[in-house]
Order: sequence, then C-alpha cells, then structure tokens
Amino acid sequence: MTTYTTKGSVRRCCGHEHKSLETARKCMTKDQNLCHGLGGGSFSDRKIVAVEDGLSDWQVRLDYTRPLNDDEYETLAMLDEDAGY
Ligand SMILES: [Zn+2]
Repeated sequence: MTTYTTKGSVRRCCGHEHKSLETARKCMTKDQNLCHGLGGGSFSDRKIVAVEDGLSDWQVRLDYTRPLNDDEYETLAMLDEDAGY
C-alpha cells in the first residue's frame, strides 16, 4: 500500500507514515501554520510525497519517494475545495 509523508529541504521529513492524503495534508497544514507563527517570513517548504510500498526509512530519507500523480493531485484539490480554499 502506498503511504504518504511530507518533506522539504529546509523542514525535512515529518517522519510520519500517513495512510491517506487527507492526514498528510493536515500534517502539512499544521507545519505551515507552525512556521507562519514563528514570524519573520518563516514558511514551511514541506510537500506531500508518496512512499511506495516496501521502502525503508533510509530510502525515504534519501528521497526514493515519488511525487504525487495526477489522481493524487486531484484528490488533494478536492480536499482543498472542501476546506474552502
Ligand atoms: Zn506527518
């Protein structure tokens, strides 16, 4: 099963294995709010990436993750719509 995590070159990986895009998105939003709260133009560069079944921790750290595909982006867009963006 594909899982999701969030990561960025500055904020690094959140270290979670999110079972759905929805929870990954919540995690990303939380980090964005946290960074925003720090002020001084701080922002989170974390993005949601997909972790294919069977990848180990070091593979995820070394970016063996893959970008979201069209279907997943569509799901994400729907979640954004629900949230009223
Ligand atoms: Zn997370």
